[in-house]
Amino acid sequence: MEKEMKIGIYPGSFDPVTKGHLDIIERSSKMVDKLIVAVLKNSSKSPLFTVEERVSMLKEITKDIPNVEIDSFSGLLVDFAEANNATIIVRGLRAVTDFEYELQMSQTNRIMDENVDTIFLTTSLEYAYLSSSTVKEVAIYGGDVSKFVPSYVVDKIKDKINALNNGGHNE
Ligand code: ADP
Repeated sequence: MEKEMKIGIYPGSFDPVTKGHLDIIERSSKMVDKLIVAVLKNSSKSPLFTVEERVSMLKEITKDIPNVEIDSFSGLLVDFAEANNATIIVRGLRAVTDFEYELQMSQTNRIMDENVDTIFLTTSLEYAYLSSSTVKEVAIYGGDVSKFVPSYVVDKIKDKINALNNGGHNE
């Protein structure tokens, strides 16, 4: 009998993707046959990067991992999972503060779709402090973010901040 493909989804805002996210992508991609990194189109947050820009940065930094695909979605995660035949949701845990929200989300998703399970990877210690929002804050005040995000993303952040300082708008 042919073995069914194990497909995982790693959802998030990734605004922008950090070395902490990349670490979770590298580790979880080894646990599944295919990992879909899915950028949430969330209209309630005001993002630095558009969804298309976030997708394109993720594509670039994961291009050497063959079983990783990048996509975006809106609506319910369980619906996106079902549409992609995914049975595993991957999330990262940094600190106790992440826990309560993540537990609630995973239990809600499980009740909505019993075929989907969430697995949590604890952050690698060197990235435990790292979040997209602190990266944005450091970058906006002109700080060096090269310890926090892949070098490709460092350049994209510089371009974006320059464009914003020159009066550009972000959708
Ligand atoms: P969301 O808006 O869904 O929280 P994020 O892009 O902030 O999206 O995070 C996506 C996922 O990655 C979440 O599970 C989050 O806990 C995890 N994550 C974020 N930063 C790190 C990090 N430094 N180490 C490990 N996991 C992380």
